[in-house]
Amino acid sequence: MNIPMNRILDATPLELGEGAAIELGLRQWRVSLDESQQMWVVMDQPDRSANTVSEVAIDELATILQAVRERQPRGVVLRSGKPDGFIVGADIEAFRGVNDAGQVRPLLERAHKVADELADLDCPTVAVIHGHCLGGGLELALACDRRIARSDASLGFPEVQLGLHPGLGGTARLPHLIRPDQALQMMLTGKPVSAKRARSLGLVDAVVEERHVAAAVRAAIDGDLASRGGGAAVRAMNLAPSRKLITRRARDEAAKQARPEHYPAPFRLLELWEDHGGDPRTMRERELQSFAELLCGSTAQNLIRVYFLREALRRPGKQQDAGVRHVHVVGAGTMGGDIAAWCAHQGLTATLEDQQAHLIGPAIKRANGLFSHKHPDARQRRAAADRLVPDPAGSGRARADLIIEAVPEKLELKQEIFAELERAARSDAVLASNTSGILLGDIGQGMERPERLVGLHFFNPVSRMQLVEVVRHDRVDPAVLDRATAFAVAIDRLPAVVASAPGFLVNRTLMPYLLEALLLMDEGASAEQVDAAAEAFGMPMGPAELADQVGLDIALDVADGLRDKLDTPMPEVPEWLRRKVEGGDLGVKSGKGLYDYDDEGHPEKKDLSEPADDEMVDRLILPMINTAVGCLDDGVVDDADVLDGALIFGTGFAPFRGGPLCYARHRGIASIRSRLEELAGRHGERFTPARGWQQIDS
Ligand code: NAD
Repeated sequence: MNIPMNRILDATPLELGEGAAIELGLRQWRVSLDESQQMWVVMDQPDRSANTVSEVAIDELATILQAVRERQPRGVVLRSGKPDGFIVGADIEAFRGVNDAGQVRPLLERAHKVADELADLDCPTVAVIHGHCLGGGLELALACDRRIARSDASLGFPEVQLGLHPGLGGTARLPHLIRPDQALQMMLTGKPVSAKRARSLGLVDAVVEERHVAAAVRAAIDGDLASRGGGAAVRAMNLAPSRKLITRRARDEAAKQARPEHYPAPFRLLELWEDHGGDPRTMRERELQSFAELLCGSTAQNLIRVYFLREALRRPGKQQDAGVRHVHVVGAGTMGGDIAAWCAHQGLTATLEDQQAHLIGPAIKRANGLFSHKHPDARQRRAAADRLVPDPAGSGRARADLIIEAVPEKLELKQEIFAELERAARSDAVLASNTSGILLGDIGQGMERPERLVGLHFFNPVSRMQLVEVVRHDRVDPAVLDRATAFAVAIDRLPAVVASAPGFLVNRTLMPYLLEALLLMDEGASAEQVDAAAEAFGMPMGPAELADQVGLDIALDVADGLRDKLDTPMPEVPEWLRRKVEGGDLGVKSGKGLYDYDDEGHPEKKDLSEPADDEMVDRLILPMINTAVGCLDDGVVDDADVLDGALIFGTGFAPFRGGPLCYARHRGIASIRSRLEELAGRHGERFTPARGWQQIDS
């Protein structure tokens, strides 16, 4: 079990006032009055490890505020009774499936009223924050007069990741507390800030350790803790001319990240603040309406779905300990080096072996780059580096709990390696291959105990691609499969169990998309036009640029391999692509592929004036969805939600569309099938609807 670092560093019990309890018949809060007549209002939701802002929590807070008005304490302290944090945000479960803004409004109005009542109390109010203080939790803290953070606190507004902006008065309160450009940045990026940074921004007024909380609270309530927020500069920046200037810049930045038609929330937030930022009361009213509309829109609902898909992917692996403390990786190339580095970053010992010892050095150098990026603290950085051990002799083979093979994609080589590994490894060690397409049954053919072999298919780049395909085969021991799944979760990746079938799930689904792009280019479209069509649908990167990133040689290999093994029709690879590969134009890695690349690896793209062509969009996207449906029908993946999640996290399939099947249901199953038939008539049988469509419920 992982014990959070802050629990080890700060084992002092939480300061909760220790006064006489006030009985108000509450379930989610505890209230007490200490000797100094300070009222401690402690949120502690039963049966949960973290607090969320729920309807009940808000109703009970209203009861507490009534008691405050009646009893008139010297001050109010808002705190969490959970050792791990303050409040992690709104109860997202309650947002699921909401589609009527008219029904949402009364609930939001009630929550706003309670937050305003907290802000309007006559006595001083102070929020004491430790651990996560996010979304609605931070908005309640903002409604207090002062904020005291413990040094482990992390404060932020992650709503934008769910297609929303803050909805409990935060859009109005934050830009009047800290500089509005910085407030907008926090709300637009969703990135949390540390306690130290929050103090320098003026978001919190003091940072203290647990043992000093009582004294800091007393100072705040006695009026001896000055606010670090507000001030003349903040006021000036909230005036109309500054708002115009700041929003113009922020809008340009936001437009570089996302399109308003796909992700409206950032643009709605900017509009709100530009129009009403000078008048917090109107701003709060408009925020409420805007939040209700966004919440009922398809982007937010689909992103909320994605949040739960992520949970669903993690669930099977969360239920057991993988029993992996030491990973040994064979092959220190692109994948092996990065897998070992990621494992070390995640706290495991990782030994890294390569047949050519001099190839381990570059992998370690890349790993150090990752550690510097992920661990600003030098001690943690060094500890991660110490966990990654170059092992040219392969002595880690005999000690590891898990061995991952990442040598080149050649069956005989992999068979040879696994024969050696079987002899060298501990009998209870799991043996995994990172193969991207060789069937596990073939790799395990010569093994004495193929039941301990499993596929762990990581994607490139390992540190950014969250999905790992956990590949099962006929002879795998279910306990080995479970351990591999738990291992992926333990290193903060998202496992999807898939069958050992050609291309597994992700490459099989992605390939028709890449091949169709080549055919469109063969018919005369430019790489820019094809990419623009996919991006207009919402793909983070168009297929031409993606093929260049993957490497045209690798893409060609996968395409040829799949065509040989699958009985579904696949388009031919155009001859000019083969010639390109033979001529050494392999994509980003060679500086030239479907695009030319500058020294920093950026494609040189021509600007397009015309909008994306709808038929082109369908020709690219529908084969991907059709193949996904075929994979479900063939049992490559067992569950429609796992399929949607895997394709979002493994291919980047437009998250705001909720996954390929979610998109298909939204557009209409019948309408997609008839469009596929129409495309099949015009362009060939590769568009023929897959068998599995009958089973997809609309
Ligand atoms: P790579 O060529 O970059 O690295 C392979 C490494 O294995 C080389 O450093 C090589 O020296 C070493 N090696 C060869 N024989 C060895 C042996 N007998 N013992 C120890 N080391 C040996 O290859 P890669 O791109 O990292 O791919 C490795 C595997 O991962 C392949 O199966 C590939 O299909 C799969 N994969 C690759 C990607 C990708 O984008 N590159 C993505 C997913 C999966």
